[in-house]
Amino acid sequence: MMSNSPTYRPATLLVHGGVDRSPHGETAEALYLTSGFVYDSAEQAEATFKGEIEHYQYSRFGNPTVAMLEKRLALLEGAEACRATATGMAAVHAALLSHLKAGDRVVASRALFGSCHWIVSTLMPRYGIATQFVDGGDLEQWRAALATPASLVLLESPSNPMLEIVDLAAVAKLAHAAGAIVVVDNVFATPLLQKPLELGADVVVYSCTKHIDGQGRVLGGAVLGRKKWVEEVLQPFIRNTGPALSAFNAWLLLKGLETLPLRLAAGCRSAAQVADFLAGRPEIARVWYPTRADHPQRALAMAQMSDGGTLVTFEIAGGKEAAFRVMNALRLVRVSNNLGDSKSLATHPATTTHMRIGAEERARLGITDGVIRLSVGLEDPADLIDDLAQALTFASLAKAAE
Ligand SMILES: *Cc1c(COP(=O)(O)O)cnc(C)c1O
Repeated sequence: MMSNSPTYRPATLLVHGGVDRSPHGETAEALYLTSGFVYDSAEQAEATFKGEIEHYQYSRFGNPTVAMLEKRLALLEGAEACRATATGMAAVHAALLSHLKAGDRVVASRALFGSCHWIVSTLMPRYGIATQFVDGGDLEQWRAALATPASLVLLESPSNPMLEIVDLAAVAKLAHAAGAIVVVDNVFATPLLQKPLELGADVVVYSCTKHIDGQGRVLGGAVLGRKKWVEEVLQPFIRNTGPALSAFNAWLLLKGLETLPLRLAAGCRSAAQVADFLAGRPEIARVWYPTRADHPQRALAMAQMSDGGTLVTFEIAGGKEAAFRVMNALRLVRVSNNLGDSKSLATHPATTTHMRIGAEERARLGITDGVIRLSVGLEDPADLIDDLAQALTFASLAKAAE
C-alpha cells in the first residue's frame, strides 16, 4: 500500500506515511476526537479484550489519529514501533521507568535537559535506581562507568545548551557490553539529521513539542524502538499510567511532519549563517555550532549528523549583565525558554532552563552567565542577523555610556 511503503524517501514518507483513510476517503488525516469506541456485540468486546481481534478500545490505549502519527514517526526513524505521549517528558519518563526497577544502575551523560536530569538525579533514587553521571564527550569516562554492569544508558546529542556531541556508536557498544540498553534523547538533532538506531541505540525519545510541531502550538512526545520492547515493556506502562497524547495534538503533529524537511533545511541554513555572523563580532567570546570549523567535536558531528541543526549557542563577553543587555535589545528575536519554533527565540540558560542544576554543575557543563542559546526560526536570516547586529551594537554602546 502506497501510504505505508517504507521504500519512499523521508520527504514522501512525511506526507503519506501511516495514513489510515476512513471509508469517506478524506484527503487530510482524519481527526478522531473520541475517548472510547463501540463494539458490534458483547462477543466482539470480549474478543478484543482477549486480544483475539484488533479493535480500538479506549484512547488511553490507542487512537486512530495517534496511531497514524506513530506509524509516520516509526517510518521516518526506521524503528519497528512507536508510542506517542502527551509531552516529551512523558516520553522520557515512560522509556526509563517502564524498563527500570529497584536496584538497577543507570549511566547518563551529565548534559541532560533539566527535567530529564531531575528524573534521574531526584526521582529515580527514591525508587532505588542509582545513576552515575559522565561527561558525555569523554569516551574514557563512559568506558570507566560501563566497566560495571548497568541496565540503561541515557544521553542527549547534541546536548542542551552547549551542543556537546556524544559518540553514539562507541557508547552503544560499551553500553551493550555492560548489559544496558541505550536511550537517546534526539530532540536537538531531530529524526531527520541523526539516526540513533542505525548507530546502535535501542530506544529514541522525542519532544514533538519542538521541531516536529515546529510552530509552537502543542506539546507532544514519542518513544521509538523494537516491536518486542515497545509492546511488552513500554505499552503496558503507557496503557496503565496514562501519558496518552490527545488526538487533536496528534493531528497537528501529523501536519507538522509534512513540512519538517523544508523547515529544517531552512532553519539549518539560517543557523549556520547566524553562527558565522556571531563568530565575527567582537562582543562574542565564543560560538558553538556543530558543523563550524571551530566546534571541538566537528568531525564526530559531521560523521553522525547530516546537518548542524537549528540551535546556535554563544557566549557574550561580560557575563550576565552583558547577556541580558543584548537579549533586552533584540526586537525580532524574542526571549523565551522554548526552542524549535518557527519564531526565533533566545534563552539565557543560567537563569532559566538550567537555573535549578546549581552553579557548580553549570560550571562543569560550561554554561557560564554569558551564554545565550538561540533557536533559529523561519524568518529571513538577513533580518535575524540585522536584529542581532543592532542588539550587540546597542548593548556595547550602552555599556560604554555607563
Ligand atoms: C523540550 C525537551 C524535552 C521535554 O519535552 P516537553 O515536550 O517539553 O515535555 C526533553 N528533552 C529535550 C532535549 C528537550 O529539548
